Amino acid sequence: MYVMPGMHKLPPLPYSYQALEPVIGAETLRIHHDIHHKAYVNGLNRAELYLEQARKTNNIEYIKYWENELAYNGSGHILHSIYWTIMAPVGTGGQPGQRTVSYANQYFGSIEAMKNQFTLATENVEASGWGILTWQPTWGRMEILQAEKHQNLTQWSGIPILVCDVWEHAYYLDYQNRRSDYVNAWWQLVNWNEVERRLISAMSGKVALIIER
Ligand code: MN
Repeated sequence: MYVMPGMHKLPPLPYSYQALEPVIGAETLRIHHDIHHKAYVNGLNRAELYLEQARKTNNIEYIKYWENELAYNGSGHILHSIYWTIMAPVGTGGQPGQRTVSYANQYFGSIEAMKNQFTLATENVEASGWGILTWQPTWGRMEILQAEKHQNLTQWSGIPILVCDVWEHAYYLDYQNRRSDYVNAWWQLVNWNEVERRLISAMSGKVALIIER
């Protein structure tokens, strides 16, 4: 797959706005996807087109600004695309898959221990950001990381498997300042089939993990 500069598209939600109730309300989902995620896609396209033009004209005047826009909006687009697909309506996400269980057991001790660390790490992200379960190919194992904002992922080469958005726009209408209630309820939405698919895909080295289907 090759995406031309400025050609990223907002992927449609894989379910209706109401599908994640009562954990995440329809209005939260509509604003989050249609407005916030769309803004990251637009911002990424804008940055890529500007930089394409700048390369042609040798204009490096605003390089720092546009590189920052590229990282901020690019990571925002990728992480939101994963976030929509690793959730499913309550009761439909299945159980943790064989590979997910075996790698979680090996490194964290158990799925419960992984979930406990993920919950704690996510609740305690400073200001806006994400809790992220990654596949770390450098060491052949999973890891749990906090990303402040989107782009400050603290281990390069980690491949996101399961992500939880804790920017206020993800939960404020439903939970106000009770981030912990949101994160704990959010587990009911996890689509374990997609988590397993992403893990196997990441481990196989097919890191493209297409998000713009
Ligand atoms: Mn968000």
